[in-house]
Amino acid sequence: MINEIKILKKDMALIQAELEANKPYEACGVLIGTINGSTALVEKALPVTNAKRTRRSFELDPKEHYDAWNEAEKDGKEIVGVYHTHPVSSAVPSLWDRETMENAPSVWLIAGADGMRAYVWENGVKAVEITEY
Ligand SMILES: [Zn+2]
Repeated sequence: MINEIKILKKDMALIQAELEANKPYEACGVLIGTINGSTALVEKALPVTNAKRTRRSFELDPKEHYDAWNEAEKDGKEIVGVYHTHPVSSAVPSLWDRETMENAPSVWLIAGADGMRAYVWENGVKAVEITEY
């Protein structure tokens, strides 16, 4: 199981900028990289249009999501996680997030009004340590 996610400082800054730019709506995107043992190494955060454009949930635009998946695959990488923002609430999975996580087993990075936290679903929500590099 994944217990650590490594992400570039510039990608952390990009996600924070996406949070600000899309307020009051949630922003979302994918985290592309590789899984090494229990660590998800993110090499690139890629913003994806929030097809729902709501304040309380998100849906990765299917076409953009597919394109991102294809591009990652071409470079021998994978989508190791998904990020989204909680512009007016804390970085804790909402009920909707929890239900969705159960069917999307990857790292969930949430940028909240109180900072960023990461999680995986492993018989429940488990915290993942974020390391910047
Ligand atoms: Zn959420």
